[in-house]
Amino acid sequence: MKFDINRIIRSNIRALRPYSTARDEFKGTASIYLDANENPFASAFNRYPDPKQNALKQAISQLKGVGPEQIILGNGSDEVIDLLIRAFCEPGVDNIIVPQPTYGMYGVCADINNIKIRQPLLTFDFEIDLQPIYECVDPKSKIIFLCSPNNPSGNLLNRDKIKSLIQSFSGLVVMDEAYIDFADSVGFLPFLDDYPNLVVLQTFSKAWGLAGLRLGVGYGSEEVIQILTKIKPPYNINSITQQKIKEAIDNGKQTQDWIGILKQERKELETAIKQLLFVVKVYPSQANFLLVKMKDAKACYQYLLTKGIIARDRSSTVLCDNCIRISIGTPDENKILINALNDYQNTNP
Ligand SMILES: *Cc1c(COP(=O)(O)O)cnc(C)c1O
Repeated sequence: MKFDINRIIRSNIRALRPYSTARDEFKGTASIYLDANENPFASAFNRYPDPKQNALKQAISQLKGVGPEQIILGNGSDEVIDLLIRAFCEPGVDNIIVPQPTYGMYGVCADINNIKIRQPLLTFDFEIDLQPIYECVDPKSKIIFLCSPNNPSGNLLNRDKIKSLIQSFSGLVVMDEAYIDFADSVGFLPFLDDYPNLVVLQTFSKAWGLAGLRLGVGYGSEEVIQILTKIKPPYNINSITQQKIKEAIDNGKQTQDWIGILKQERKELETAIKQLLFVVKVYPSQANFLLVKMKDAKACYQYLLTKGIIARDRSSTVLCDNCIRISIGTPDENKILINALNDYQNTNP
């Protein structure tokens, strides 16, 4: 299907003239800045951050092999999710499609913006089920959100099914790849130029270990990125974040080392947890967590709490009966976890 951005953009957004900052209007360097009502006295942070985030985008562009004009930076990927919904979904009229179970923020952002959410189910092993998705699509469907590797299940979604969805849908398909660094797949960035209606989300919050800095990245066609850039808050990425993320990229080997350790730990933790008698199933994971089905997830969750270990109880999530989600910790933390799970087994025969 031919993608036409004019079919999906909200008319007020198309007509919007964005706020122009002092630094948008003056390009170049000067010796005296009297244009932005900043406090002139010396301080590391008296100046507004670069609203275009040029240096940081350049670094991310080189890291990922995607042009800077195809990149939008958000205060966490959560901000990019919100921008997507606000740019393309008309409150009270449009809908998004979010196959379940998955990350909760797509639905929350839609609720905040009064956008209807259609929630077809994934299969029992959390794979894409095309038919129920197609049945949800109508002319008011603007975005399909997919998460791969999926949270909370950990699996990568089937590549061919994703491609057929992208090709047949006349709105945007957003692939949330928050966990792609832990997967044996490069994800969908290589297909960006094939599909003008594909948006890929990644983040520095997980593998990069920088959740506190809040940096999410959206990749898409130039026309989509232009619209999101037009509506973002001008100074959405603060100076420290712009600087520290750039340093982390320059020091990328550290991240690769962490990923290697966490993948090894994931494998060992999976093996150890599978041996526990109260464990029904450990779902195969391509992320930095494991979804574990148990005989009594709430009891195990409570037991871990008494040991000071907090997992995520997912047992009231659809298709996740009696499941808890456990993030992969350091080797020491994982040993303590396994000991606690063994104690739980011994006290609950
Ligand atoms: C953790 C997570 C994010 C986090 O995004 P931020 O960049 O920290 O806002 C996004 N998507 C999914 C699926 C996640 O699990």
